[in-house]
Amino acid sequence: MSTKDYLEKDYYKALGVAKDASSADIKKAYRKLARELHPDKNPGNADAEAKFKDVSEAYDVLSDDSRRKEYDEARALFGGGGFRGGFPGGAPGGSTFDMSDLFGGAGAGAGGLGDIFGGLFTGGTTTRRQRNVGPTRGADVESSIRLGFDEAVHGAMLPLQLSGPGTCRTCHGSGARPGTSPHVCPTCGGSGFVSRNQGAFGFSEPCRDCRGTGQIIDDPCPDCQGSGVTVQTRTINVRIPSGVRDGARLRIPGKGMPGARGGPAGDLFVTVHVGAHELFGRKGDNLTLTVPITYAEATLGTTLRVPTLDGSVALKVPAGTASGRTSRVRGRGIDKRGGGNGDLLVTVEVAVPQKLNAEAREALEKYAAAQADDPRPQITAAIRPTEKNHG
Ligand SMILES: [Zn+2]
Ligand SMILES: [Zn+2]
Repeated sequence: MSTKDYLEKDYYKALGVAKDASSADIKKAYRKLARELHPDKNPGNADAEAKFKDVSEAYDVLSDDSRRKEYDEARALFGGGGFRGGFPGGAPGGSTFDMSDLFGGAGAGAGGLGDIFGGLFTGGTTTRRQRNVGPTRGADVESSIRLGFDEAVHGAMLPLQLSGPGTCRTCHGSGARPGTSPHVCPTCGGSGFVSRNQGAFGFSEPCRDCRGTGQIIDDPCPDCQGSGVTVQTRTINVRIPSGVRDGARLRIPGKGMPGARGGPAGDLFVTVHVGAHELFGRKGDNLTLTVPITYAEATLGTTLRVPTLDGSVALKVPAGTASGRTSRVRGRGIDKRGGGNGDLLVTVEVAVPQKLNAEAREALEKYAAAQADDPRPQITAAIRPTEKNHG
């Protein structure tokens, strides 16, 4: 968007709104026009397509407060609307004064003017990304989904509900109550503009009767109140790949906001929250499991049967296994992306009984007497002899 564009184009006129129109009015006018002029509705109509472009460009500028201000200032400073009354030599023979007559489409003069004014608005404001008036990609949408542990491990297809503005389904965007249709505004004949003469110059202004839309809705659609747009909920089936991790962000291409002017839709990003499992934990692609064992099992050794996500496996606990020791059961973890499986990591923990019956206590006391080895010789050695047996 160059300054030349600012001077040549009357964005207010393009949208059919007054110069002091509120942003809500601008939005409304744009939606209305965009709907009417949309290429999908006017296949092969070059005129509608050109208007659609103009309207989009106008909206891009006027919907952005700082750009609108810049635009207003440029035109106040260098003409634009101001040329109407003050340009020497009179208006070129017609009603509506068209700046492009003066500055040409691709003429040398036009380039010159752009160069002259092009430097005026540097410094942050014009270095921003160029607004595109052609096809524009739709915005990306962020969402999140909650998964059960098993769903995350095995993968799932889950419905995700999303809300956003969309064409009213009741009136299909016309804004008119079903069974009725808007009629062409008699005041402006459907153009949305009326001509007015003032001194030597004639110019157009938005039609007041139809607010520049060119159409009058007698009976507004009850669902969208005539705007043609409602908030809609859509359901998207999201495929959750097996092995997805908590906090993962999935990208679903083309499921974001629809594009404008034939542009592609944005992407949908879904952040995954995975619920806990009552038994298993996860460490990346490995599954973790803690299994309590008795002191006798740890000491004498045993074979445990432990669950996996898919059936159970036998796990040998060798005699003399320390509490907290972890064994690996290969391939019984989580499906890896790109093939293979993680492992199941089984940690045994010696469970200390909180209660003993008389028989067990007696046996244990016998055992303690029989097994007199000091389990902590290094600790014992670190304590000075005089301090020993002081508790
Ligand atoms: Zn409607
Ligand atoms: Zn009208």
